[in-house]
Amino acid sequence: MADESVPPPPSAEHPLRVAVVGAGPAGIFAADALTRQSEIPVAVDLIDRLPTPFGLVRHGIAPDHPKMRAIRDTLHRSLDHPLVRFVGNVEVGTDITLDELRHHVDAVVYTYGAALDRHLGIEGEDLPGSLAATDVVSWYCGHPDADRAGVEAALAGVRSVVVIGVGNVALDVGRVLARTPEELEPTDMPQHVLDALAATEVEEVTVLGRRGPAQATFTTQELRELGELARATVLVDPAELVLDADAEERAAADRGVARNLAVLREWSQHRPEPGHARLRLRFYRRPVRLLGEDRVTGVEVERTAVDGDGRAMGTGELEVIPADLVVRSVGYLGTPLPGLPVDERSGTVPNEAGRVLRDGRPSPGEYVAGWIKRGPSGVVGHNKHDARETVAGLLADAGDGTLRVRGPVDDLVRTLQARGAEPVLLEDWRAIDAAEQALGATRGRARTTLHERETLLAAVRAAAGR
Ligand code: NAP
Repeated sequence: MADESVPPPPSAEHPLRVAVVGAGPAGIFAADALTRQSEIPVAVDLIDRLPTPFGLVRHGIAPDHPKMRAIRDTLHRSLDHPLVRFVGNVEVGTDITLDELRHHVDAVVYTYGAALDRHLGIEGEDLPGSLAATDVVSWYCGHPDADRAGVEAALAGVRSVVVIGVGNVALDVGRVLARTPEELEPTDMPQHVLDALAATEVEEVTVLGRRGPAQATFTTQELRELGELARATVLVDPAELVLDADAEERAAADRGVARNLAVLREWSQHRPEPGHARLRLRFYRRPVRLLGEDRVTGVEVERTAVDGDGRAMGTGELEVIPADLVVRSVGYLGTPLPGLPVDERSGTVPNEAGRVLRDGRPSPGEYVAGWIKRGPSGVVGHNKHDARETVAGLLADAGDGTLRVRGPVDDLVRTLQARGAEPVLLEDWRAIDAAEQALGATRGRARTTLHERETLLAAVRAAAGR
């Protein structure tokens, strides 16, 4: 006779219920990996605090990169899977606690990314006119939580900008600020963003690396694009591209670095062009403090030299780079979810190949994937492999009985609705999608992003006749 105290293994009738927290690329790839296999029957709730899916694909990839954003179509196919239920507009920690969520499902995969900006820890960092790149990106992508007033106040009247950091986000911000209104016009940026950018006549953008060109983390494709702007000229100081013999040899051995150097060396021949904005890429400059009384007027930098291990060493030589706006683009940081351990320094959840560790031991039923697992690095595609690794661990745990179907529980969406939350399901998202396309069509665009939570929810309610 079967022992009734031992829950049964997952079956088609009683599948393993998995909640994925965060419907960005990592979460969608995790849902995809869970539903692509047929050995362990699963049902996935893909939860997001926003009423919209796609995470940084919607609110991170620059809107002037439509080809990159087209990955939405691929991600959408995973949302359409009958075993995946999108549950947007639900914040874990607010609408439902982590303990309550865990009671509803047999396993949770945390894929909520890294939303905070890293700090420089220097004087003047919080002056008006100093913005985190995360804030600028959220604003131009139409994120509902963007600080619209703060970003637009900082942008007003700006002529010269310093972007600190030489990663792809720094290039995104520098490029968007240097684009003409005509170049941005076809994008899905909200109209108020297009208007604010059109009113900003940026004459100079300096993108600042604290180490050398061989240590920059931007990728060649993104770098090259700066050279294709309609009314901006990229300027590079040839003296900053001179490497000693050892460094040159190391640079040549790394294809990415060698390609970047080749592009930069070509640009070092450029001269400023009349009527063009100047987009300067500068290296070996470490920010020391932001200058200004009531608002930023410049950045004091110290010249550096890079040692054989790639570390920046200060030389004591100081310089001031004037700027009306400083954008700090020095990386993202993961935040804790109430009840979940996060290592403060790395901003990641302690884990072993995706199994969450509590007090150094795997915590049964808890997994992690994406930036909150490995830190804020890599392009969208990297999350696929990452999510697969995590899901392989989860399925192995289900296969060996570590994970069991815990028996009947109330439906998550019904529980949320009963307590007054307003979960946004797939058909609701389709209504938002249609509303954005209709808004875009009024100005001949494919789409215009709806940037306010209330407007997004109004589109849902209108379609549902509520
Ligand atoms: P990132 O590539 O890690 O770049 C951070 C930059 O900040 C580095 O240049 C770093 O310099 C600098 N930095 C850090 N601390 C600093 C400090 N205290 N002072 C001065 N500089 C400092 O990060 P990201 O640009 O935020 O991008 C995050 C991820 O998203 C990356 O993997 C990126 O490739 C990806 N992404 C891709 C695309 C695309 O494919 N188009 C677009 C956007 C983002 P050090 O190296 O010296 O630390």
